[in-house]
Order: sequence, then C-alpha cells, then structure tokens
Amino acid sequence: MLGAQATVTNLEAQNAVAAATAIKADINTLRHFVANNYQRPTLLLEEQILRAKARRFMAAMPRVQPHFAVKCNPIPEILSIFNDEGVRFEIASKKELEQLIEIGVNPKEAFYSNPIKSPEHLKFAVDNGVEWYVVDCIDELNKVYQAKPDAKFYLRLHTSNEGSTFELSSKFGATGSDVKDIINAAVALKADLAGVTFHAGSQCLNVQNWVIGIRAARSAFDEMLAVGLKPRLLNLGGGYPVELGRPVPSIEEIGAAVSAELAAFPDEVQVIAEPGRFLVADSGHFVCRVAGTATRGGQRWLYLDTGFYGGLMEFDDMPYRLQTDRQGSLINWRLAGPTCDSIDTFKLSYNLPEDLQADDFIYIEAGGAYTNSTASNFNGFDIPDVKII
Ligand SMILES: *Cc1c(COP(=O)(O)O)cnc(C)c1O
Repeated sequence: MLGAQATVTNLEAQNAVAAATAIKADINTLRHFVANNYQRPTLLLEEQILRAKARRFMAAMPRVQPHFAVKCNPIPEILSIFNDEGVRFEIASKKELEQLIEIGVNPKEAFYSNPIKSPEHLKFAVDNGVEWYVVDCIDELNKVYQAKPDAKFYLRLHTSNEGSTFELSSKFGATGSDVKDIINAAVALKADLAGVTFHAGSQCLNVQNWVIGIRAARSAFDEMLAVGLKPRLLNLGGGYPVELGRPVPSIEEIGAAVSAELAAFPDEVQVIAEPGRFLVADSGHFVCRVAGTATRGGQRWLYLDTGFYGGLMEFDDMPYRLQTDRQGSLINWRLAGPTCDSIDTFKLSYNLPEDLQADDFIYIEAGGAYTNSTASNFNGFDIPDVKII
C-alpha cells in the first residue's frame, strides 16, 4: 500500500516529462478527443506508444522474448499490435486463448501460466495445440499430464515479492521440499519438466526480486539436470513497473541486472518474460466524469462516473496522477465511484481544484493496465470504452 497523496501537477511540467521520456501519452490528445466524443468512461491508447513500449522492452533485454500477459488488457487491437511487434502471449483461460486464435496467433507459441487450470479450459488448450503448461504442485502436474502426456512443463517457484506493489506469491509457487517432490514426481511420470518460472510481484520496485528469482531458477535447473530432466526454458514472469507519481526502476536498469544473471544459463536455454502492465499502462490515459459532489462533515467528496467496479480497482494502491480542466485552488477531495456500495470509495484523497462540479472531466494518467479488463457492470454502470488512436 503506497500512502502518497496524488496531486494535480502543472501541465507544462507534465509535458516536459513526457517529452523527456518520449514514450508517454499526451494528455492533450485525450482532452481533444473527449471534448467531442465522450459517451462513457474511456481508455484512450496510442498505437505508437504501445509499439514503442514493446520495442523498449526488447531492447532492454535482448535475450528475453516478451509474452504479453493477456489479462492485463485483452482488447483485440492491442493483442494484434503486440503480435505485429513480435511479442508473444501468456494466457490463463480458454477465453484468452480464443482471443489469440481469433487474431491469428499460433497456440504453440502461447504459454499457459495459470498454476491451476480449470479442466474445461485445459482441454480447450490441449485440443488447440498449446504445448507449454506451468505447474507448481503435484496435483496439477498429474492433471495436466493426464490431459496431455507430451506437455512441456515449467515449474513456478515461490520467490521474493518484497517491494512489489501487488504481491503474487501468497497464492502460487512451489517452495522448500515441495520443489524436489515435484521434480521427482515428474521423473516418475516421465513428464517433460522443461523449465522454471517465478513472478516478482506486480508493479515491482525491487530489482533484486528478478536477481533472486533467476538464481533460484538456476538452482532448480541444477536439481532437474541431476535427475536426468532437460530444463531448457527460463520464464522471468511479469511485474515490470510503470512510472506514475513516484520513481521506479527503469526497464533498462532491470534489463541490465537480468542480463548479467542470464550469463549463468547456456545460450540454448530459451528465455522469456511475461510483461503486462509495463506494455500498456502508460500507453494512454483513462478519462471519466464527475457524477456529483458533496460536503460531508466538512470534507469535500467527488463522485465519479466510474470507480472500483468500473475499472479503478487498483486505485488505492497505484499513485495515479489526475488532471482536470479547472483552474481553482487545490483542496482535498475524497473520491468515490457511482455505485451504492461503500467498497466503491477510495482510501487515498486527492488535491484537486475546488471548483470541480458535475460533468467535469477527470483525466487519469497511465490507466491502461488492469482497468477495462477488471471492470464489471455492477449497479448498471457502463464498463469503460477502449479506443486505440
Ligand atoms: C498477471 C501476470 C503477469 C503480468 O504481470 P504484470 O505485473 O502486469 O507484468 C505475468 N505472468 C503471470 C503468471 C501473471 O499472473
């Protein structure tokens, strides 16, 4: 939980930062777009920036083939743009695989990285030619092996998620003696346990997590080799952060640390990663509107036309920057979504112009990841529209 207060920053300063990094979406494009077209909360993504992010990732880690985590933003145009850039894909469900097949992706190149695969989804993947399946426990190894005896398996290790904004290691990942037990079970089954993966945690600010993960993978490779398995895949997972209100390690910094550690793996080892957030978050901005304002016990409240259920589920943990078209002096506002549920209230408060009122636009910078993909129609409110320009 990051406790920072987000503030509206001066537009010129924002633009200077955008120009310096040359890879951030321009909020004025969004202003211009919504002035005439707004119908419901909208994520506006810029194709050129999606492409630039994919290229930047690949340049930062030349040995690593990125596989976009589809759950992060499964809009077909986004998947096609990445596919065109040479990015491949990581899936967790039947629907995600269907979406890839629709845009012409070969399932052989997709990685099924959900540690627990629902049987019906698993069958669909097997029937459509997916070859690579993650496992992190013996039950799943047996289940996938029965469905596909010639599957190529990769073992998900439990490694450090310290310093990541969203930890992903409490639910999944093999640890301690379980690792050896899974390796031995694969040998007994004659299953092709062919690789190792880990996840550093999402929006991970700690470069060491990749170093620790790769070293743990090296040890697991050695254990596999010792019992006659043929490990040949190293999957570095996701977690690569985007810069919002505070500094984060750059992809180049992470790439340098990763590349140094990869020297411990022979060239024949295939190395992939599963970036989600990094590839889409700051390729665009999310715009919504003020539904109404209120004063409660002296505190000003700003109710938006979208909220926790409408795509802003991560709002409390990500220090998003908000902008408006108002010039009034900044005061403290509490923010909430439009539904009648009190979960739909944000913990962080924001300094925003005092003269905000119903129908004003609120521009949320870098809202491209886990927004539209997590939205529901709860209480009859629209899920966000997504436009690629
Ligand atoms: C969600 C997820 C990712 C993507 O994580 P980001 O933090 O968006 O990069 C990658 N791999 C797996 C297995 C995931 O569950």
